[in-house]
Amino acid sequence: MAATQHDYYELLGVARGASDAEIKKAFRKLARELHPDVSEAPDAEERFRQVAEAYEVLSKPETRELYDRYGHAGLRSGGFQPGHFDFGSLSDIFSAFFGDDLFGATGRPNRSRGADVVAEVEVELVEAARGASREVHYDAAVTCARCGGDGAEPGTEVVTCETCRGAGRVQQVARSVLGEFVRSTACPTCGGAGRVVTTPCTDCDGAGRVLEERTLRVDVPAGIHDGQQIRLSGEGHAGDGGARAGDVYVRVRVRPDPRFVREGNDVFSTVDLTVAQAALGATVTVPTLEGDQELEFAAGTQPGAVRTLRGKGMPVLQGFGRGDHRVLVNVLVPRRLSDDQRALLEQFEQLSDEDTYRGDGGDGFFDKLKSAFR
Ligand SMILES: [Zn+2]
Ligand SMILES: [Zn+2]
Repeated sequence: MAATQHDYYELLGVARGASDAEIKKAFRKLARELHPDVSEAPDAEERFRQVAEAYEVLSKPETRELYDRYGHAGLRSGGFQPGHFDFGSLSDIFSAFFGDDLFGATGRPNRSRGADVVAEVEVELVEAARGASREVHYDAAVTCARCGGDGAEPGTEVVTCETCRGAGRVQQVARSVLGEFVRSTACPTCGGAGRVVTTPCTDCDGAGRVLEERTLRVDVPAGIHDGQQIRLSGEGHAGDGGARAGDVYVRVRVRPDPRFVREGNDVFSTVDLTVAQAALGATVTVPTLEGDQELEFAAGTQPGAVRTLRGKGMPVLQGFGRGDHRVLVNVLVPRRLSDDQRALLEQFEQLSDEDTYRGDGGDGFFDKLKSAFR
């Protein structure tokens, strides 16, 4: 096989000063795309070979230095034979392609951590403001009590798997563009357990695990935002053969409250004043996250005026302090007038002049609106 004369750095798409990690990453990405088992492109095999060769050279300090100094000629004079890779790094390719460990997994079967469980709870906005407690119901796989998790009916025999002799994995010699290699896979007879159950447990059908209904109480911290998750460590599905259990992720939904708009830790609400209340001044009740509160509005309160209730917003999650609550004034203009009301308003209009509406400057409607949403 002739050495390719392509620039190895170009083949991998990395800079000449690339770190080992960058080179590895670039190779893995390309290998996934180009491997003949995966790619349909007619030149995939040839490109894969080139990329593998580039990786082989650049991943080792000796060959990389030789190549950096003297190029392809330097490698040849240094005795490098492309295509005869002793792929110590072949296992890298394997884990990249198959998620499979080439040389490992002799001895005991793999014990994997239990799977995670996802659950959901819903709280009202006012509950999110003060914190809440909720029950979460879910099904979790637990170790079968009858068989203790080994899947065998108590008193019956468990024998070592003959196919893999208890190793849980079998090795096959396979052929690829890189030459022959040994491929190690989970044993097809025992599924990787290394043992075979002669009589399956009647409770779990040999699975070693059963589903259990569980209820957990979860504390929803004050200030939580919609969609945030709470992790309950080790409360998920049991792992294989006594491995660590998975976690429970509780997604918290904060139900929108029609009275408030939440923005970060601040909340907004509006209050309606009649024209007379706004002109004469009034005390009105407004809802807050902590319940109803009386607010006094001075005579001449304008639409768009904003009252800031400092520290009455949402608590800062796992922090100190709270956001603010801003109350935006809306003035209700009468839509339907009786004859008497009309007469009074007409009389009022006649008695009004510029002075009736003159402001003290700098508090136009739009200024107020902007300050509400700053
Ligand atoms: Zn069982
Ligand atoms: Zn086996």
